[in-house]
Amino acid sequence: MPSATVNNLLLLPRVPEPTPDKRLRPVFQVSTAPHGVEGAGFEVWRGFFGSTIQRTDPFIFLDQMGPVTYEPREAKGAPWHPHRGFETVTYLTDGEMVHRDSNGGGGIIREGDTQWMTAGAGILHDELPSERVLGKGGLSHGVQLWVNLPRTLKLSPPRYQAIEKSSLVLMTNHDGTSLIRLIAGEISGHQGAGSTHTPITYAHITMYPGSELKLEWEPTYNALAYVLDGEGWAGSEMAPFKAHQLIDFNAGDAILIRSKDFQSSPTQTVEILLLGGRPIKEPVVHYGPFVMNTKEEIMEAVEDFQKGRMGVIPSSW
Ligand code: MN
Repeated sequence: MPSATVNNLLLLPRVPEPTPDKRLRPVFQVSTAPHGVEGAGFEVWRGFFGSTIQRTDPFIFLDQMGPVTYEPREAKGAPWHPHRGFETVTYLTDGEMVHRDSNGGGGIIREGDTQWMTAGAGILHDELPSERVLGKGGLSHGVQLWVNLPRTLKLSPPRYQAIEKSSLVLMTNHDGTSLIRLIAGEISGHQGAGSTHTPITYAHITMYPGSELKLEWEPTYNALAYVLDGEGWAGSEMAPFKAHQLIDFNAGDAILIRSKDFQSSPTQTVEILLLGGRPIKEPVVHYGPFVMNTKEEIMEAVEDFQKGRMGVIPSSW
């Protein structure tokens, strides 16, 4: 799981421990992601399956894609399909994906890169392994997060942000035992590169064995930690967690995560996606690739897609 790394964590800006008056968030629930198959046949772990939209709001879905090692010509993707009413955020830790969309957005996403696509009013896109990965095979691992848009922004113009590995904001915890990669939002006064429509924080954290991570967390946000790999404890009551689990924190001002001294994973690290945002608190009607507020809006989306109003597949790229 390479993404962005550094040789010496101690040279990074440190996130101070929360002051003693800050209330540590207890854990509401730790749920386990089931394993499934998506698109043209790529493997996913459905991170939010054991939760509800009320708890994950403003996020809708989190799919961990892999880790999987493909043989040559075996890598899979998701060919042309539409979206409306939300954003897809794809972060890769291993492998390469090629993205194309009907709005002219596109490019190769490599290890450590994030692609933030606002579908808004409607877009068609194509998510495939790169020619190189398809030809040679190899390790592929990433995460796709769906971020909801409020009613007033659901039909906004599509937008594409490429957040490259080099633009991730790197920090460490108070004693230099965890690497924090900030993708979007704010941690300890540092601002991530991603531009968001509603207030959100999104980070990938690598915790070395026996690390204790204590972060202040915006009290009006929810707080979720999805465990890509490794084992440890979280929250004020130190609830145990392991790989492919979602830790959902209750209200408070700060979060606590501790990694075990000995890990069963080969890397010996705990890999966590930490995310939270201000809940949108609107009705959510989800049908396939569309996320709207009402059933009527979903029917409209299906009709608009069928009539080609969400764009057309580009003839060449
Ligand atoms: Mn898609």
